Amino acid sequence: MDIKVFTIFPEMFTGPLNTSILWKARQKKIINIDLINFREYAQDKHKSVDDYPFGGGAGMVLKPEPIVLALEANLNLNDSQQEIILMSPQGQVFNQEYAKMLARKKKIAFICGHYEGFDERIRRFVTQEFSIGDYVLTGGELPAMVMIDAIARLIPGVIKETESFKEDSFYKGLIEYPHYTRPRVFRDMEVPDVLLSGNHENIRLWRRKESLRRTLKRRPDLLEKYRLSTEDTMLLEQIKNEEVE
Ligand code: SAM
Repeated sequence: MDIKVFTIFPEMFTGPLNTSILWKARQKKIINIDLINFREYAQDKHKSVDDYPFGGGAGMVLKPEPIVLALEANLNLNDSQQEIILMSPQGQVFNQEYAKMLARKKKIAFICGHYEGFDERIRRFVTQEFSIGDYVLTGGELPAMVMIDAIARLIPGVIKETESFKEDSFYKGLIEYPHYTRPRVFRDMEVPDVLLSGNHENIRLWRRKESLRRTLKRRPDLLEKYRLSTEDTMLLEQIKNEEVE
């Protein structure tokens, strides 16, 4: 996947892009990430990217020219395969379903806003607009990094055991079951016996039930949208009876 990030703070990306799984994915050339500082495309001698808002008001607004010139110089805007994502708290809220959909794309560009935001006319040049949640950050850099990380780990070959992300919370619509590792007893807290039993079917059933229990308790909204199997319905019945006891 070819990823291009348009930002005036490319240095913010150094840590996340050069560490752990994203770094390995770049080394293996599964993803290629270019950071483009659109300040370089500013037209005046001060290289200014922002200006006062027409109509007055607080804060500065990102000018359209540097961003659009940077897009035109680095992307083919007529390429229907090219996604151009604007980071904005006003966009659709990013989630695992969008991450899956975007992981199938070949070319994604992210535009990071700053200050009070960007000139409205930038929106003409984008294909989608995403928010990472209902709160306002100082810039689009952290949201773009969050999206890149969530998308990249779903691309085949990025995570070694591809099965592992399929068990993650949200991938199939539920929250994941609890995990345990050594030691078997930690400060009087024991690992559930079933996980030490070696009985794969019992382990699978226990995990399924705990995944349903967690989702019911923490995210009942997810369960409402979820298509339950006959086994799920039976396990949920058991859970509800256990709560009553
Ligand atoms: N005045 C803008 C508004 O109310 O919509 C917010 C501007 S914010 C301070 C500056 C930039 O940070 C935005 O243009 C956007 O690129 C980014 N940003 C802030 N919060 C975000 C969020 N929740 N999701 C995605 N991007 C966000």
